[in-house]
Amino acid sequence: KKLQDKVAIITGAGSGIGQATALLFAKEGAKVTVSDINEEHGNEVVEMIKKEGGEALFVKADSANIEDHKRLVKETVEKFGGLHIAVNNAGIGGESNKVGDMSTEGWEKVISINLSGVFYGMKYQIPEMLKSGKGSIINISSILGQAGFGGSAGYVAAKHGVVGLTKTAAWDYGKDNLRVNAIGPGFIYTGLVSEETMGKEALNMLEGKHAFGRLGQPEEIANMCLFLASDDASFVTGSYYAVDGGYLAV
Ligand code: NAD
Repeated sequence: KKLQDKVAIITGAGSGIGQATALLFAKEGAKVTVSDINEEHGNEVVEMIKKEGGEALFVKADSANIEDHKRLVKETVEKFGGLHIAVNNAGIGGESNKVGDMSTEGWEKVISINLSGVFYGMKYQIPEMLKSGKGSIINISSILGQAGFGGSAGYVAAKHGVVGLTKTAAWDYGKDNLRVNAIGPGFIYTGLVSEETMGKEALNMLEGKHAFGRLGQPEEIANMCLFLASDDASFVTGSYYAVDGGYLAV
């Protein structure tokens, strides 16, 4: 097993990419703190892990709340005795409007959850990883951390910000055995992106922007998270990995 006895925090683990990553990490031997703002979904994922014989804990936390991040790390360390891996994944799509029409509230909301939430997470995760002597942080950005997308200024700015934050943290802690990387998923079939939320036509248009002519599955992102979390990625830090079915290959 690739993550035997490692302790991992995954935010936004109640559904989609976070859920798939939590299930895979547990299967690979990690003790997983499943964190989400949605208590019901988070507890369901914990039950799924326990049913398969894994170890998991649910901690309710709002990514936009710095005190929640502090408590999330504290409860994880109290329960599992340390921290080695964090996947900062919680995120929302946010307000869809052109820049000139975007509300300041909409802007601030997506920045606080999708960008500040990653900073707050790392702020408390890093000291515990330094105590462990080794760590891997994986920040979930997006293809929209590398390219623009009409109507999504706040989201795009936040995801670009996550890439810069990741590169900088990699430099800050490279000599401390702490690796920090970002993943840029293409569009993935999850709660954020489905026929119900966006309609058939828009979904087909998005599918056509990927060389494969389809969107990704959450498990395909979880596989990259596993690689970056494991010792297989021992010389990998400060990188942005697109897992995007060819979206950026234009
Ligand atoms: P999802 O909606 O299925 O899962 C997101 C989870 O985050 C949910 O369980 C939700 O309850 C939780 N969450 C929302 N706001 C939160 C908050 N304030 N605090 C804590 N948890 C919160 O979506 P997903 O696609 O799995 O998204 C996961 C990450 O992947 C996000 O950062 C998203 O931006 C990114 N991403 C998604 C896609 C895609 O196409 N789905 C593409 C690129 C990047």
